[in-house]
Amino acid sequence: MQNVAVFGATGSIGGNTLDVIRRHPDLYRASVLTAHSNAEVMAGLCLEFVPDVAVMVDPQAAKQLAAQLKGLVPTEVLAGEQALVDVAQLPQVDTVMAAIVGAAGLASTLAAVRLGKRVLLANKEALVVSGRLFMDAVKESGATLLPVDSEHNAIFQSLPEAVQGQLGRCDLAQHGISHLLLTGSGGPFRTRDLASFDSITPDQACAHPNWSMGRKISVDSATMMNKGLEYVEARWLFNTRPDQIQVVIHPQSVIHSMVQYQDGSVLAQMGQPDMRTPIAHSLAYPQRIAAGVEPLDFFKVGQLTFEAPDYARYPCLKLAIDACHQGQEATTVLNAANEIAVAAFLAGQIGFSDIARVNGYCLEHADLAHCSSLQGLAELDKQSRSLASGWISRGK
Ligand code: NAD
Ligand code: MG
Repeated sequence: MQNVAVFGATGSIGGNTLDVIRRHPDLYRASVLTAHSNAEVMAGLCLEFVPDVAVMVDPQAAKQLAAQLKGLVPTEVLAGEQALVDVAQLPQVDTVMAAIVGAAGLASTLAAVRLGKRVLLANKEALVVSGRLFMDAVKESGATLLPVDSEHNAIFQSLPEAVQGQLGRCDLAQHGISHLLLTGSGGPFRTRDLASFDSITPDQACAHPNWSMGRKISVDSATMMNKGLEYVEARWLFNTRPDQIQVVIHPQSVIHSMVQYQDGSVLAQMGQPDMRTPIAHSLAYPQRIAAGVEPLDFFKVGQLTFEAPDYARYPCLKLAIDACHQGQEATTVLNAANEIAVAAFLAGQIGFSDIARVNGYCLEHADLAHCSSLQGLAELDKQSRSLASGWISRGK
């Protein structure tokens, strides 16, 4: 029996994780659940899964949850950000599903890594803001790190076992690998007239053609910043050199990414665009379990097509790739700027094309001097958020 702590339990990945756990009560127990402020949804989850502990970051929501659960289940309710870090370290927790959105997920994920837990990583922003420190911590503690992001999970599945066992530390070329091919659908605006980008609404941006996801990652998919963040994530997870990752647009989202070998072979992982597949893979690895996902029907799929990304359509992708090659400081700044810009777009404060403008502005104006500590990176994150907020309040 694996005891699983689901961070971000009320979100899209959290819900899909609990759906897989629900199908295997003999294998997994959700012993910790955490969320930001949705006490209503959390109460339902606690009544069903009866975790030992539930954390609400928002203290008001924690009070509401405790009142709703009183006398019904013995779940202990905790409040605040520090509680996230504390429960990541509980001795009964074997596995952590890191599915908080944004840099807010870093502290708890890193705490679990440092204690050598099995960490299933959906929270890509954690690697974008602290890739090297994060991977060093994995190496030091011997934690098992398994990628949940569908592309990275696909690459993981297509890698030799020796590389899987030493994530972030192998020389890919020495294992006969020439490239990682990171696929992406191109989002909802792949064929939309560029001249009409200023009239894009948040709901249009969140209507992804293939995947159902949280609102922040949905906007990131529309700008392809998501692929940019994934490029950085892949750089750290698989220890790539700049010429070893290629982004490929694949509108059907059937191939979830590929590994190209020096002998000409290309290994791909395919499936329905349903996150329960990579979640089930990471929960059960190296075993396989049912995920509740319909089998892929190739006759229904019909065609698989591929395109090169156009940076005029997806300027955020270009910013992220350049930042990745520039270094850790640049990706930290870009991630923070993007979190603020996307929230402002979702709140109707800026236009869709402004997201790339805010991101570019912050990269240009932040102090990118080398910093090697988490604290230094956290300060840089703060500086970038304030630059982004300044741009937004001035409108330029
Ligand atoms: P979501 O918005 O649906 O859920 C986010 C969860 O995080 C919620 O439970 C929320 O309560 C919690 N949360 C939000 N802000 C928080 C904060 N400040 N402190 C603590 N908890 C907070 O997001 P999602 O789509 O499930 O994505 C979660 C993560 O997984 C993201 O990093 C995303 O990039 C990654 N991811 C998601 C998908 C997907 O299909 N949804 C696919 C690949 C990777
Ligand atoms: Mg992905």
